[in-house]
Amino acid sequence: MQIYKVGGAVRDRLLGKPVTDIDWVVVGASTEEMLAKGYRPVGADFPVFLHPKSGEEYALARTERKSGRGYGGFTFHASPEVTLEEDLIRRDLTINAMAEDDHGRLTDPYHGQRDLEARLLRHVSPAFAEDPLRVLRVARFAARYAGLGFTVAPETLDLMRQLSESGELEALTAERSWKEISRALMEDQPHVFIQVLRDCGALNVLIPEVEALFGVPQPEAHHPEIDSGVHTLSVLEQAALHKQPLTVRWACLLHDLGKGLTPESQWPRHIAHEHKGLRLIKAVNERFKAPRDCQELALLVGEYHTHGHRALELKPSTLLELLQSFDVYRRPQRFEEFINACEMDARGRKGLEQRSYPQADYLRGAATAARTVAVQPLLELGFKGPELGEALKRERLKALKAYKEAASA
Ligand code: ATP
Ligand code: MG
Repeated sequence: MQIYKVGGAVRDRLLGKPVTDIDWVVVGASTEEMLAKGYRPVGADFPVFLHPKSGEEYALARTERKSGRGYGGFTFHASPEVTLEEDLIRRDLTINAMAEDDHGRLTDPYHGQRDLEARLLRHVSPAFAEDPLRVLRVARFAARYAGLGFTVAPETLDLMRQLSESGELEALTAERSWKEISRALMEDQPHVFIQVLRDCGALNVLIPEVEALFGVPQPEAHHPEIDSGVHTLSVLEQAALHKQPLTVRWACLLHDLGKGLTPESQWPRHIAHEHKGLRLIKAVNERFKAPRDCQELALLVGEYHTHGHRALELKPSTLLELLQSFDVYRRPQRFEEFINACEMDARGRKGLEQRSYPQADYLRGAATAARTVAVQPLLELGFKGPELGEALKRERLKALKAYKEAASA
C-alpha cells in the first residue's frame, strides 16, 4: 500500500500556511489489511480509518457516484484497484486535489499548483455538480483566501449557478449547511462568503431574507453606503476585523432583515424594522438549526440594536427594560455580545468605520450599575416573592437614574 498526504495539508503547506490537521489517503489496500495493521474504522460503511497512534484520518482511495438527491444519494467504491488519480478527481477544487508522498513528491494531475499560483478556486471535474455542499465550500474557501487574492474561476461560478438554479441546494440538510456557514463566518473575510453565494444565486435560495436587502436604500445621512445589503456585508466585515465570536457574527448578518420588508413607498425609512424582522430571523435560525446561543443573540440584536445606538438618550426606565430583556444579571456575557454587535453595526457604515462608539461603554456602565444593586438588604427588609422583584426593580431604576445623571454631568 502507498500512503499520501492529501487535501488541505498539501494546499496549506504550498501556501506557506500553518497545517493543523492532516488527511491521508491509502492506495492499494483493503479494509482487512487496514484492520490487521491496527487502524480503527470510523464508520460502518465508510472506508475511513483512524491511525492507531496519531488518531489522524486515513481514507481508502475511492470513487464516488451520485445515485439520488442530496448527500445520502452517494455510492462509494473503495478497493485496492482504485488509483490515486481516480481518488483525486472526485474532490471539489484543484487546489484540494493534490497528494504528497513521504518524500515530499507531489501528485498534481488536475493542476492545483497552477491554480494556487493563479489564485483561482477551480473545480476539478464536472462531477463537482454532484454535491451541492460544494457551493458552500467554495464560498467558504473564497472567504478564507480572499486576503491572498483568490477568486472563484468563472467556469466554477457558472457550475455553482447551475446548481443553485437546479433546486439541489434545497436538498442539503440543516446540519451540513450550518457546519459550512458557521465555519465560513469565522473566516477572515466572511462577507466574501455571502458575496460569492450571492454571485452564484445561492444566497437567494439559502437565505433569501439577506438577498432581499440588496437594492433597499437607507437614509444617506446615517448610512452613507445607502444600500442595506452593502451595509450588512460591511457589518460582517467589521465583526471579523474585530475578532468577534460566531454568535456576534451571526447576529450581525441577520440584524437588519426587517428592512427587506419595508414597502417601497416608505423608503428610505424603515419604521419598526427591528420588530418586523423578528419572524424572519426566527425562520433563518430554524432553517439551519443554529445553536441556541446564536439564535438568541440574533433575535435580541434584531429587536434592540436601535436601543443600543440611542443608549445615551434612553430614559432610565427604558434602559432598565433593556437590561431586563437581556437578563443581564444572570447573563452578563450575552449583553456584552449585544453591545459588540451594535458597535459593529455602527462601524459597518461607509466612512464611519473609525468613529468612536461611546454607547458601548455607556451600556457597560449601566449594566454594572444595575447589577451592583444588592438583594440582601431587601431580603432583610422582609421583601419576598413578587414584592422582592418589584423592590429590586425600583432600586435598579434608582441606580440607573444616578448613573445617567453622573454620566451627563
Ligand atoms: P480545511 O482546512 O477546512 O480542513 P480541507 O481542504 O482539509 O480544508 P476537509 O473538509 O478537511 O477540507 O476535507 C479534506 C479534503 O477532502 C478536501 O481538501 C477535499 O479534497 C475533500 N473534500 C471534502 N469535502 C468534500 C466535498 N464535499 N466534495 C468534494 N471533496 C471534498
Ligand atoms: Mg482538513
